[in-house]
Amino acid sequence: MIRQENIDIRKYTTFNVPAICDFFVEVSNLNELKEALDFSKNKNIPVLFIGGGSNILFIKPFHGLVIKVNLKGIEEKIDEDDKHILITAKAGENWDAFVHYCTSRNYGGLENLSLIPGNVGTSPIQNIGAYGAEMKDTFHQLKALNISTYEIEVFDAESCKFGYRDSYFKNEGKNKYVIIEVTFKLTTKKHNLKISYGDIKEELLKKEIYEPTLANIRNQVIEIRKRKLPDPAIMGNAGSFFKNPIISIAQLENIQKKYPEIPYYKISNQLVKLPAAWLIEFAGWKGKKEGNVGVHKNQSLVLVNLGDANGKEIYDLSKSIIEDVNKIFNIQLEREVNIIL
Ligand SMILES: Cc1cc2nc3c(=O)[nH]c(=O)nc-3n(C[C@H](O)[C@H](O)[C@H](O)COP(=O)(O)OP(=O)(O)OC[C@H]3O[C@@H](n4cnc5c(N)ncnc54)[C@H](O)[C@@H]3O)c2cc1C
Repeated sequence: MIRQENIDIRKYTTFNVPAICDFFVEVSNLNELKEALDFSKNKNIPVLFIGGGSNILFIKPFHGLVIKVNLKGIEEKIDEDDKHILITAKAGENWDAFVHYCTSRNYGGLENLSLIPGNVGTSPIQNIGAYGAEMKDTFHQLKALNISTYEIEVFDAESCKFGYRDSYFKNEGKNKYVIIEVTFKLTTKKHNLKISYGDIKEELLKKEIYEPTLANIRNQVIEIRKRKLPDPAIMGNAGSFFKNPIISIAQLENIQKKYPEIPYYKISNQLVKLPAAWLIEFAGWKGKKEGNVGVHKNQSLVLVNLGDANGKEIYDLSKSIIEDVNKIFNIQLEREVNIIL
């Protein structure tokens, strides 16, 4: 285990902005992880875990130890009912490679989540979701190391408190645990295919695919995502920068008096979800550039590094967008990306 000092770890993040940290280490097993934690405790410095670095923004140097969690391995176990498989991946496995591993073996449930960057161990943190599916739909349990006691604790779905881009680990559990492995319960037959979301079904029909396999769905999702989202290797970004706001129906009715065209999606008898992308576009930000940063021309939820930005420039852009949307609609957009202050 090699510990580096005072280095820029931007290459481990997808925003590609300066990310200077006092100490950096990559750990590939539990002993190394504990050793790294001991180091931070002895030095009395904060710790920050990093997986694929695709949901993180450094806006100033981090005076502590960054631990890149590289634990690897995948294990399969047939579930009692023989229609499912329990499959466990260590935290450092790349998410999309894991999805490919599952779909190629005809294990169903993760195919709609293809091509999301990042690692398996980070997928529960914001309960990743796309194309009508969320990680929680197939989640079985996870194991996390308690940072204070070094005990390994098991969390089921209930104790993870999954919500929309949210979990226990983004709230009360933040900075208390490091996730070391995640187990999914996937179907081995009679898959519950979700193709009605977005353009998946239409695009499959255009290809004359009437009874899609898991691999067909995965390939279709990849094709659509590649068309719609900027590739971080070419243009730094962290996917959606903002969450879709959830508001009450009373609040919606109030907004509709002035903006009857506002789109919404009913999620309960009291609540609706609004597309943040629409609000941002309405506020005039889609495709707008400000110096080194901008809002992507095809997807206004995505803030981009146009070449040589620093994290503060991206953060300030997000602040201006939040203020403008708030002025127009009286809605406070929430950031999805983890900001390292
Ligand atoms: C182009 C693009 C498209 C995207 N599309 C989607 C999408 O469709 N849906 C979606 O939900 N997300 C999407 N994202 C966001 C991102 O890919 C996910 O949030 C992903 O799960 C982040 O994983 P990561 O390993 O990169 O996390 P990181 O950015 O490395 O870390 C995220 C947070 O988790 C903490 N952390 C890291 N590892 C651990 C650990 N082992 N234990 C505890 N805490 C840890 C970090 O400190 C940080 O706070 C997209 C991002 C990009 C760049």
